Amino acid sequence: MTEHAVVIAGGGPAGLMLAGELALAGVDVAIVERRASQELDGPRARGLHSRTIEVLDQHGIADRFLSEGQTTQRAGFSGFLLDIGDLPTRHNYVLALPQSHFERILAAWVSELGVPIAREHEVTGFAQGENGVNVELSDGLSLRADYLVGCDGGRSLIRKAAGIEFPGWDPSVSSLLAEVEMSEEPQWGIRYDDRGTQALGRLEDGKRVGLVVTERYTGQTGEPTLGDLSRALIAVWGTDYGVHSPTWISRFTDMTRQAASYRKGRVLLAGDAAHVHYPVGGQGLNLGVQDAVNLGWKLAQVVKGTSPEDLLDTYHAERHPVGARVLRTTMAQTALTRGDARMDALRKRIAAMISGLDIHYDLGEGHPLLGRRMPDLDLVTADGPLRVFSLLHQARPVLLNLGEPGRFDISPWAGRVRLVDAESAGRWELPVLGEVTAPAAVLIRPDGYVAWAGDPTHQVLPDALTAWSG
Ligand SMILES: Cc1cc2nc3c(=O)[nH]c(=O)nc-3n(C[C@H](O)[C@H](O)[C@H](O)COP(=O)(O)OP(=O)(O)OC[C@H]3O[C@@H](n4cnc5c(N)ncnc54)[C@H](O)[C@@H]3O)c2cc1C
Repeated sequence: MTEHAVVIAGGGPAGLMLAGELALAGVDVAIVERRASQELDGPRARGLHSRTIEVLDQHGIADRFLSEGQTTQRAGFSGFLLDIGDLPTRHNYVLALPQSHFERILAAWVSELGVPIAREHEVTGFAQGENGVNVELSDGLSLRADYLVGCDGGRSLIRKAAGIEFPGWDPSVSSLLAEVEMSEEPQWGIRYDDRGTQALGRLEDGKRVGLVVTERYTGQTGEPTLGDLSRALIAVWGTDYGVHSPTWISRFTDMTRQAASYRKGRVLLAGDAAHVHYPVGGQGLNLGVQDAVNLGWKLAQVVKGTSPEDLLDTYHAERHPVGARVLRTTMAQTALTRGDARMDALRKRIAAMISGLDIHYDLGEGHPLLGRRMPDLDLVTADGPLRVFSLLHQARPVLLNLGEPGRFDISPWAGRVRLVDAESAGRWELPVLGEVTAPAAVLIRPDGYVAWAGDPTHQVLPDALTAWSG
């Protein structure tokens, strides 16, 4: 039986990166990989984020990746473009680089470091004891290792065989990604609707079409077909534009799950084996690479006996919260790209929050205006038309009487509160809340927030005047 200090199941981005980290530290590591090469059966990650490029730079290999991709100083969040040009790093950009290129370059580095990769071999099971792990392979062979790391993707056999729970959220949408030909000219561009994000783009050869279309999620499993694609296109655009000759079609969902533990004894998880989520935001590959960088040196020190085994517990402690944050923000991004009424409402709420227009001080029960900022309505007064905000220029309280003139006696507050009789024909519309009934009178504080609103005969008005104006 061949022995290694560490065996890694899976030679995707996470497995390759981990192997590189361990080899750099002088640890005897081997990868078992099902695929014959780093070729992928469809496109996956399209880019690297700053920290990923930084860790490649820390190992002196960033240029290998930079020379094959293109940089942009814009990162995306749910369809919004964020300028990251002023981030304090030498790599203040996103590197556009297809995952297949990333894996090819990384695999070449790992090979230079002398890591053996058993290609077209599959891990089928393992048994761990106190002193090591027996790793079973598909061809009946087995390996012996001090530690086994599952970098075997979202459907991880290692995670399942270790009995590690994978709690989270079931899929709600399913997307088809494809490269096809169409006999009719489609509607090019991106659209957001109540299903999710749809996009049709002309590819470089001017003939083929790259597309993403959201299909109704009905628990689909198995390989997507041209028929599935045609049905999804018709459901969104009313036609399949004569779709034919697919180069490839792939399916992914927004299933969001995270391993309850990244370690069980001598078995550890990294990358998609530890967390899966919708690809929006381009985080998965980057997250897995960072898992590997966090785990690599710790595992090396434990294997070499430099550090006690409990150093490995800091891997879960540090990386699980990072993964959990990505899962949460990815779900938020997925929700925000949908164009249904609930998401419109959420977008409005967030816009109101960001703008500061939704601030509500708790001044008790009453008219919806109470504690909220007074809208800048157009008023008609005896002195002519004016805006509410013009009444606040001197930062003094204003009692705005919108009913019969002369209904108020504010003599105890004369000189401190300005009484204005006015009419307002406009709609009283508040951010998030929408239209509210016009009050008969409003007491506005110097900061523009409503201290009281309602019927002038209301006994609470003198209290409000005293409370806020002395
Ligand atoms: C459509 C799409 C777009 C994406 N876009 C982005 C993006 O823009 N940015 C981003 O960061 N991420 C993106 N991702 C996510 C990214 O592709 C994954 O997060 C990344 O591939 C995970 O790397 P990994 O090494 O953990 O797992 P994988 O890439 O899944 O690699 C696992 C490896 O293990 C092998 N394997 C599996 N089981 C066994 C076994 N039993 N024995 C031996 N070998 C085994 C597999 O063959 C594979 O090579 C996208 C994903 C999809 C589907």
